[in-house]
Order: sequence, then structure tokens, then C-alpha cells
Amino acid sequence: MFMAQGSERDSAIKSEFVEKIIGWYEENGRHRFPWRNTEDPYEILTAEFLLQKTTAEQVEEVYPKFLEAFPEVGDLAEAPKEEILDIIGGLGLAYRADRMKEVAQEISDDYKGRVPEGLDELLNLKGVGDYTANSVLCYAFGRARPVIDTNAGRILKRVFGLNVGGRLRQSDDLWSLAEDLVPENEPKKYNLGLLDLGAFVCHKKEPECKKCPVKDLCCSSRAGEEYGVRDL
Ligand code: SF4
Repeated sequence: MFMAQGSERDSAIKSEFVEKIIGWYEENGRHRFPWRNTEDPYEILTAEFLLQKTTAEQVEEVYPKFLEAFPEVGDLAEAPKEEILDIIGGLGLAYRADRMKEVAQEISDDYKGRVPEGLDELLNLKGVGDYTANSVLCYAFGRARPVIDTNAGRILKRVFGLNVGGRLRQSDDLWSLAEDLVPENEPKKYNLGLLDLGAFVCHKKEPECKKCPVKDLCCSSRAGEEYGVRDL
């Protein structure tokens, strides 16, 4: 098992891991999504709310309409709930309309309409947890923060042999490792690379290790077999 602060060899492996994830993302990532091509904090926060329990392909359809109707935080804060639901109601989770409007009102009232740049301030917004807060910090403000969903957590667990079960994202070992890994340079490409690799290669069942850019580093790889993973 690797340690968050380990030997020189561990550091070299971590650097190689990060480089390979970024390289893989540059060639294979889903670059087309509009929320991946903006650094506007409001647009990124909007995308993260819409992506909760919803596929990117579904969000892709409504996202431009949403931003056209509510281009600024203040527009969303003042919008009637029915207008918001007209656009996002088809995604399900209707409570999001209330939640997004409330957050827009908080940002308008408490931060003069600007999405805050501090982790604590972001976490104080209703419905904003670690994942969303770190997404905004990384994708909008370029901060080296780990963005760990279930897929990304699974990759770190498998590659670095973390012996954690159950609620992976609540593991201190995982967070410590994730914070240590995320690079100051290109944190966005690294985080998005992990998300996409988890979605398309390192599946929960039957990961496609032969296609994986980090198979030579991975404690769980079975790249030499048809498929499969040796979960620790
Ligand atoms: S080698 Fe296999 S188990 Fe390891 S990260 Fe890649 S796909 Fe996942």
C-alpha cells in the first residue's frame, strides 16, 4: 500500500500516475461538454447541480437553454420557480429548482452576486458538498483540489491498494492520498481524466485493464487476463 507521504519511489510512481492520467485525458476525454469549456464559476456551479444523479448526456440538452434563460446569478435568483422547472423539470429531481434558486439568492445577497472562492463559504451554500465545492474551486478558480466521485475513488483505491471498504469517499486515507496526488499544474485535466477513466475503463465490474493508461502502476490490474480486477 502506498502512503500519502511516502518514499521517493512512491513519489515517482504518483508523479507518473498523474502524468498518465492527464495524457490519457487529453487524447480520450469528453472535451465536448460545455461546462468543461468555461471557467465561469456560476456556469460551473450550475452544471454541478444539474449533474447530480443525472447523466451528462441529459444535462447537455438543457444546459445551454438554462444559461440562455438565466445568464447571471441574479437572473436565477429572481426567476419564478415555474420558469426554472420548465427547463430542468424533464431531468427529474424537481427539488433542484428550489435549491438552485435558493443558492442563487444566497450568492446575490451575501456575496454580491459572485460565487465565493473559499472552500468554507462554498460548503455553507445549501446543497453544496465536498464534490461540488471542489469542482468549482478546481474548474473555475484553477485550484489544486481533488474532485472525487465514486468512480475516481475506485481508481485510487485500486491503483494504490487502499484497503478501505464501505463508504469509500469518506475514507481519510483516500482523501489524504487524493489531496497529495492532485497536481498544481493542470488540476482540471487530472480530475476530469480520473472521472472519465472511471466511467469508461475502470468500471466497477469488469474493468478494461488492457486499455488502461495506468495498468503498469496498478496494484489491482489484471491486464494480462481477459478482464477482471483483484480488489484489495
Ligand atoms: S489497471 Fe484496471 S483496475 Fe487498475 S485502474 Fe486501470 S482499469 Fe482500473
